[in-house]
Amino acid sequence: MAREGLINKVMVANRGEIALRVMRACKELGISTVAVYSDADKNALFVRYADESYNIGPGPARMSYLDQDKLIDVALKANVEGIHPGYGFLAENTQFCRKCHKNGIEFIGPPPEAMELMGSKIDSKRSMIAAGVSVVPGVTEAIPDHERAKDIAHEIGYPIMLKASAGGGGIGIRMVPDEIEMEKALDSIKVLAKNSFGDDSVFIEKYISDPRHIEYQVLGDKNGHMIHLYERECSVQRRHQKLIEETPSMALTPELREEIGEQAVLAAKTAGYHNAGTCEFMFKDDQYFFLEMNTRLQVEHPITEQVTRTDLAREMLYVASGLDLSYAQEDIKQIGHCIEFRINAEDPLNQFAPCPGKITRYAEPSGIGVRVDSGVYQGFTIPPFYDSMVAKLIVWGEDRNYCIERSKRALFEMQVGGVRTNIPFHEVVLEHPAFVSGDYNTSFIPRYNIMEQVVEYYKLKKMGQGNAQKAAAMAAVEAVIVAAAQSNVSK
Ligand code: ADP
Ligand code: ADP
Ligand code: MG
Repeated sequence: MAREGLINKVMVANRGEIALRVMRACKELGISTVAVYSDADKNALFVRYADESYNIGPGPARMSYLDQDKLIDVALKANVEGIHPGYGFLAENTQFCRKCHKNGIEFIGPPPEAMELMGSKIDSKRSMIAAGVSVVPGVTEAIPDHERAKDIAHEIGYPIMLKASAGGGGIGIRMVPDEIEMEKALDSIKVLAKNSFGDDSVFIEKYISDPRHIEYQVLGDKNGHMIHLYERECSVQRRHQKLIEETPSMALTPELREEIGEQAVLAAKTAGYHNAGTCEFMFKDDQYFFLEMNTRLQVEHPITEQVTRTDLAREMLYVASGLDLSYAQEDIKQIGHCIEFRINAEDPLNQFAPCPGKITRYAEPSGIGVRVDSGVYQGFTIPPFYDSMVAKLIVWGEDRNYCIERSKRALFEMQVGGVRTNIPFHEVVLEHPAFVSGDYNTSFIPRYNIMEQVVEYYKLKKMGQGNAQKAAAMAAVEAVIVAAAQSNVSK
């Protein structure tokens, strides 16, 4: 039941599956929804789903989804009370957040000051150190020149990690193995940071080899309540971008799980945070280090919802309305296991490059334990302008083994035709002994040559039709995996 005092009309300044996800939460609460869409998205599902929709310009994001003034104009015209930014686009843009407030519109997210602090990796690390949160060892200052960079790196010890302070989405991070590489790496990352984020501040921290990426969901209201909803393990990454996430993490003891949760709450409170956010940590040998806070609803939030039996999008709407959270810390329990698979339109036979185009066949898996958050349908044309993720497959099971078996079943049922996808990647990972054992870290993909195996598996699968061939293909890939595992053991 919706509660008294709720905002009554919301615009979603985003597209695809996340726009639909937020609108679904609105619908359940009786909140009217407004979609904004580019020319390329005029036939998209979220546009059809919304109560009202407005065209905001051509396909390229800077002419539509990133056009702040146009978005505010539509919001005022449609008379909405709040704007939900989704993730990506303007979700972590302080200027946009302030513009919303100036126009009397609630930004459904954190306060701008907290967003600003956390948007700078240097400033947020400083403030976390002051609060006593464990961070990656390093120096929290912007590197002025080559000399200082070499001094700091020498002090910390190679290899080191060079990071753009304003970076995100896996962009602006580079490992530097030794002093010889330092000058070139620093120059190139500064140019990249300037071009991508308009800010060329770069800093240095210790490179942690083979860490696990473990992040904590936090949720706070404007009335002083702050809770965490436990962890998500996001160590299956390619080029620092997440592909599979699971919860609970296999790496945490019950004691550590509680301890890091408390640190996440402390980090969020220190930043004066409210609404949904994520504190990311690196984890190795039972040590953990705060990395950064993402000040938005994250792509992988559904696995937390499934395991803690909560609705994060709904809580965001409550918080934005000034209401209390529906849950206290002691209400949050982890039940069972959940894995999310990002289904991307990308071509295994072309270095996994994005491959937009028309989806000619599309069938989602269903049945017990299976949730699909998607923004596409059969006949929809995936535009070339945005990221390649078209759907998320979210699978819950009573325990991790059931969850893995159920995930294989769901991936087997999922049909996407007309464009190539990374479904074969997920199938290969689910057969891999390191993933199955739970003993893996962020080096999983390069260490076991996973992408090469996916290409082989994909070729075999394409040659075959039906289950017999699929079984043969899986047997072949298992042989490759066993061979790779043996060669790793002997290394
Ligand atoms: P998540 O942890 O939610 O997966 P990601 O880092 O993958 O977060 O980012 C989610 C989305 O936001 C992606 O589309 C990514 O490209 C985009 N994104 C993240 N940070 C930035 C940034 N600083 N600038 C532009 N886009 C970003
Ligand atoms: P982004 O803002 O792009 O998400 P993060 O700081 O969160 O950047 O780092 C993204 C990923 O890069 C991490 O999940 C981890 O795999 C890797 N990474 C970041 N910092 C380090 C480090 N100091 N040592 C080793 N790996 C790191
Ligand atoms: Mg990150």
